[in-house]
This record gives sequence, C-alpha cells and structure tokens, in this order.
Amino acid sequence: MRMLLIANWKMHYGPIKAGGWIRAFRRERLPKNIDIAVAVPHVSLAAARASLGRASIPALAAQDVFWGEDGPYTGEISASMLDEFGVQYCLVGHSERRSVMGETDDMVAKKAAALQKAGIVPVICVGETSAQYKKGETNKIIRQQTTAAIAKLDVDSKTPFVFAYEPVWSIGSGKACPAQKAKEVHDVIRGVIQKKMNENIAEKVLILYGGSIDVNNIAEYLTTTGINGALVGGASLDPRVFGLLCRTAMPS
Ligand code: PEP
Repeated sequence: MRMLLIANWKMHYGPIKAGGWIRAFRRERLPKNIDIAVAVPHVSLAAARASLGRASIPALAAQDVFWGEDGPYTGEISASMLDEFGVQYCLVGHSERRSVMGETDDMVAKKAAALQKAGIVPVICVGETSAQYKKGETNKIIRQQTTAAIAKLDVDSKTPFVFAYEPVWSIGSGKACPAQKAKEVHDVIRGVIQKKMNENIAEKVLILYGGSIDVNNIAEYLTTTGINGALVGGASLDPRVFGLLCRTAMPS
C-alpha cells in the first residue's frame, strides 16, 4: 500500500504565493515511493496548476466542495468544476468546517458522494473534540462520523476514498495523538467500513493521521501498522519543511 501525504494550507496563500510554493516544492528532492498532494484554496488552484506545468507531483487537492451539480448555489463550487482543474483529491468534513461553518455529518456524506461520482478521491476527515476525548467518547464519535460519511458512497465505484483521523484537540495544538492511540482509532474506522461496506474496501482504504505532525514525529506514525499517511497543516506551509517531512516520512 503506498503511503499518502497531503499538505493542507487551509486559508493561506492566494494565487501568487501558491505559485511560488509549488515552484519551490518542485525543487525539493522527493521520495518516489509515496504519493504527495497539496490542498490549496479554490482561488489558487489555477496558479498551482500553472506552476506545476507538466509535473504531476504534488497532486492537486481542494479543501472543500458543494454536493450539487451546476445550479443556483451562489458562491459554491461543484465536483465537476474541480475535476476541470485536474483536482485529484478533495478534503471533506475538516473539523474547522464542521465547527466554524456548521458542516453536519449529512453534508459531509453528500460531498463525499458527489466527489466520488466525479472521479475525485474524497478525503473524509473525522475526529473527536477535546471534551469528547476527555469523556472517553472517542470511539463512539468516530463510529458515528464514519458511518454517516460512507452512507452515500457507492461500493462499486472505481474511485476510492480516503479517511483522515484528526483529533480536534490535536490540530494546530502541538499535541499530537500518540501513534498507538491513533492506530486504535484507525482500526475503529476500518472496522466500520468492513461492516457497512465490505472487507475488500476496508483492507484497501487509506487512513491518514492528522494533528500536529512535524518533521520530528512523522516517521513514528508512518511506521505504525494501520496508519497509511498523514494530513499536515502547519508543517506544510513552508515548501522546504514539507519537502523534508516527505523525505523523513519515506526515505527513498
Ligand atoms: C489540519 O488542519 O488538517 C492539521 C492536521 O493541522 P496541523 O498539522 O497544523 O495540526
């Protein structure tokens, strides 16, 4: 199974800086045995694409999508529009969208299904809040979010989906979830997929860990069975740091 590392710039870098990031990252020595993607703001997709030229690494990812086809949805962007840009992955249900934009489990499910239909790999983010973690509710919340998110996916689709376990208390806090604990949660996600979809999909699904990943801790996660890559926020903003992180994750 090839590992996947996704840089999540969040709301950083308009077109000018996005182009610069891509050009700088292209100068990095990158491992060949790993997949790398970068999730850029919608307005920067064209600049990122132009700076990539014919290069296919990093793959382009979007940070959000709307579930409808073309229509009266002012301000929204459809999966087929992202497809026109050559976007290969799109985050859905990031905790910042769930908490700040009020995104519900049902909305996440509709977005994931729309992406899959358009041939774009949904990267479905799930994670418990600090309060839920303290109350010992992690597995329950993860089961709920996972069950809801896969409800509208097509088991026969050729387009895979990816999960990212991102404990909310760990995002941007410098407090990474211990790798063994993350592995247990990844097993919960895989278990739900096996039960609700099938064994084959559960075996193949990539489950990333996200939350305060940096150059010093990435290797520990990627050598833990059941963790198939990482979603990286803060440590992806500098292209050289993210390049180093990719090399540290998977020396070629
Ligand atoms: C994220 O926002 O997806 C994330 C994992 O952020 P950070 O790496 O900064 O914790």
